[in-house]
Amino acid sequence: PLNCGIVGLPNVGKSTIFNALTSAKAQAANYPFCTIDPNTGTVTVPDVRLDKITEFVKPNRTVPTTMEFIDIAGLVEGASKGEGLGNQFLGHIRSTDAICHVVRCFDDPEVVHVAGGVNPLHDIDIINTELLLADLDTVDKRSQRLEKLVRNTQDAKIKAEASAVAKLKETLEAGKPARTADLTDDERLAARDLFLITAKPQLYVANVDESGLTTGNDYTAAVEKRAAEENSQVVRICGALESEIAQLEPAERDEFLKDMGLEEPGLNRLIHSAYRLLDLITYFTAGVQEVRAWTIRRGTKAPGAAGVIHSDFERGFIKADCYSYDDLLKYGSEQAVKEKGLLRSEGKEYIVKDGDILFFKFNV
Ligand code: GDP
Repeated sequence: PLNCGIVGLPNVGKSTIFNALTSAKAQAANYPFCTIDPNTGTVTVPDVRLDKITEFVKPNRTVPTTMEFIDIAGLVEGASKGEGLGNQFLGHIRSTDAICHVVRCFDDPEVVHVAGGVNPLHDIDIINTELLLADLDTVDKRSQRLEKLVRNTQDAKIKAEASAVAKLKETLEAGKPARTADLTDDERLAARDLFLITAKPQLYVANVDESGLTTGNDYTAAVEKRAAEENSQVVRICGALESEIAQLEPAERDEFLKDMGLEEPGLNRLIHSAYRLLDLITYFTAGVQEVRAWTIRRGTKAPGAAGVIHSDFERGFIKADCYSYDDLLKYGSEQAVKEKGLLRSEGKEYIVKDGDILFFKFNV
């Protein structure tokens, strides 16, 4: 499954948020196997549509879809030069699919700030600079190797990589993340094997105290301004509060949220934002045995979507019966949707949409 790495300076609240994400009571009920290793956590993706479908279909069981978060501790100033356990941590970040960058936006004299005072923009610069330098190092090394290769070849792939690397080097040297480089499709493909950190999609998590949660504060305003310039999203949450909420039973939790005037835990917003950042969408299967949500990348065709359930489904794919969640909501049952003529039969080229409810026909 695709995953999201949580990065940030020490003491900004990464572990607090990660632990809240992976220990929430609702999750544990459905996913007793939550923790794979201490730093990787499977998190269920909250989805009201799944609850609604369950009400309509009344299945024996309901299974949400999941995504993974990875807590990447230990990134400090100088990491790209091997400071601390720098290289090891950068290696972990390279293997993630997207990055949640946690920024401290709360004052607390009890919690030491590693860079000597709360200053979110300064913190962001430290982390982003380390990631940029690490990428520049990768690109420099590759560039040297390619210089020789490219002279003796007509290989289009190598030529594409060489021009990608040249553009990336220029971008990084100008202090801009690799994701902003203007690459052609071929260059983008060729650059993928570099696993550049700053090419990954990134969002900021502004970790605030309770008072800053709904209205924000001066720190979050600064982060939001910076994020807007970079075309990044910001999710505002209070790590300390989330870790309390995560310990509550679902019924208590709803009560607690209501008292706080909150609609849902901030973690839900974070999970949804990370899901969007990864460009993921959800489709459903809805039988009387089981109602279930499945995750695919946006743009996946029906056979690929079937393959998420089982590789046999993809190999033997014939067609998919398909209707939309919105139509189910409108007409109340699959039968009623069918009678309205809204149940379609889709073939191999069909691009699955967010909220589709699918039933696959396949050869074994
Ligand atoms: P990490 O080093 O980034 O993983 O940070 P931790 O999650 O270990 O948090 C560092 C310290 O900040 C801990 O003492 C937390 O209890 C505290 N902390 C985390 N989130 C919040 C918050 O939202 N408000 C306050 N006041 N303290 C927090």
